[in-house]
Amino acid sequence: MSSGPIHSVVIVGGGQAAVEAAVTLRKKSFAGEVTLLCAEPCPPYQRPPLSKQLLAGKIEPVAIALRATAFFERQEITLHLGSRATHIDRVRKTVHTQDGERLPYDRLLIATGATVRRLDLAGAQLEGVHYLRRLEDCLALRSQLQDGARLVIIGGGYIGMEVAATARGLGCEVTVLEMAPRIMARQVAPEISALFEVQHRAQGVVVRCAAQVEKLIGRRHIEAVQVDGETLATDILVVGVGVLPEVGWLDGSGLSRADGIEVDACCRSVDEAVYAAGDVALQARGNGIALRVESVQNANFQGRTAALAILDEPPPAEEVPWFWSNQYDLRLQIAGFPGPADRSVARYYDSGMAVFFLDAADRMSAVQCVSRPRDFMLGKKLIARAQRVDPQHLSDANYPLQELLQ
Ligand SMILES: Cc1cc2nc3c(=O)[nH]c(=O)nc-3n(C[C@H](O)[C@H](O)[C@H](O)COP(=O)(O)OP(=O)(O)OC[C@H]3O[C@@H](n4cnc5c(N)ncnc54)[C@H](O)[C@@H]3O)c2cc1C
Repeated sequence: MSSGPIHSVVIVGGGQAAVEAAVTLRKKSFAGEVTLLCAEPCPPYQRPPLSKQLLAGKIEPVAIALRATAFFERQEITLHLGSRATHIDRVRKTVHTQDGERLPYDRLLIATGATVRRLDLAGAQLEGVHYLRRLEDCLALRSQLQDGARLVIIGGGYIGMEVAATARGLGCEVTVLEMAPRIMARQVAPEISALFEVQHRAQGVVVRCAAQVEKLIGRRHIEAVQVDGETLATDILVVGVGVLPEVGWLDGSGLSRADGIEVDACCRSVDEAVYAAGDVALQARGNGIALRVESVQNANFQGRTAALAILDEPPPAEEVPWFWSNQYDLRLQIAGFPGPADRSVARYYDSGMAVFFLDAADRMSAVQCVSRPRDFMLGKKLIARAQRVDPQHLSDANYPLQELLQ
């Protein structure tokens, strides 16, 4: 469906989804204006290395660019960097920026991602309290991660645990404080949490679950954390307690809710000239539940989907959603979304493991693997085929999983 001819597409956001959409528009020979508006001052970059290789100092910022600057010039994709959108006029079809600019659009893609959830505790404003979302956050934290420095991390999700692994590698003394009874509880099965916890402890990280952080203590700079009535001295504090969709600037536009921008399967919002993709987009999945998905694969897929829909082209081939996390030499790979009533089947190896999720008809809905890339690939195929599998075969590490694909 279209709402008039398309001469210009404005994309608000400069991350994975935004760039993928711009690239797709040009790949499909869209000859109109493509303008990308990004609040950050630097050219678009990948975020995953911010808690991994870049934080570890193994690579420099230039290595994480999504595309070379010359690419955007060649493709005539206009970058407005350091330019924050403040609101949309849907009637006049213009985006307004904090510098007073007004950018007209025929189609608008919102790909503003997410912003960190901030701590609401006494002492949260102290120096030395870090969050990790942007390149500048990573570089500020990296400069503090010296050998022997004491680091407390609040939040044992995948970002907190990746920072723990990286900081341990740099010789920091690391403590993780997690409110839930286990680490990465939102993302993985208990068996996988347990495997990662064992590895973190073996590497010397102190992991405290079911921990209640009460306040942060210090004069100007963080000095300690009060947790469960105990005072824990620290030099650095990292907060990794999740993110919120970046929708504040859309208040009153009728496009967003607190939990994201609702879009259809084509990434189209309630306004047929406005699309959303990536961490900010709330989309119904196969099981009908609307979800925001925070992953590179999702941002790329939705960016591509939105660009194709803008051009009235058929959508991309369906993909099984997937995600990864690296901690030490453990590689976590996840695909699919387990349903609330699905059961899990674990498969253990001497090194690594896999957990498969099956629905009531024994069809695979999700797979979570640790350092088992082959099981991950096979699991993804089984999810795509919605094929029934015998749970006993899955749990038997000697049964060749490729047999299930026959
Ligand atoms: C430290 C870290 C590690 C991660 N590791 C992994 C991983 O291992 N695997 C994985 O799959 N995913 C990982 N992710 C998640 C993944 O990076 C995100 O899901 C993905 O980047 C989302 O892309 P996006 O384009 O939706 O948003 P973003 O990448 O957040 O980009 C949004 C951009 O929009 C800009 N913006 C926001 N508001 C405005 C505005 N009003 N005007 C203009 N610009 C605006 C922002 O400044 C930002 O540059 C990680 C994320 C982080 C932070």
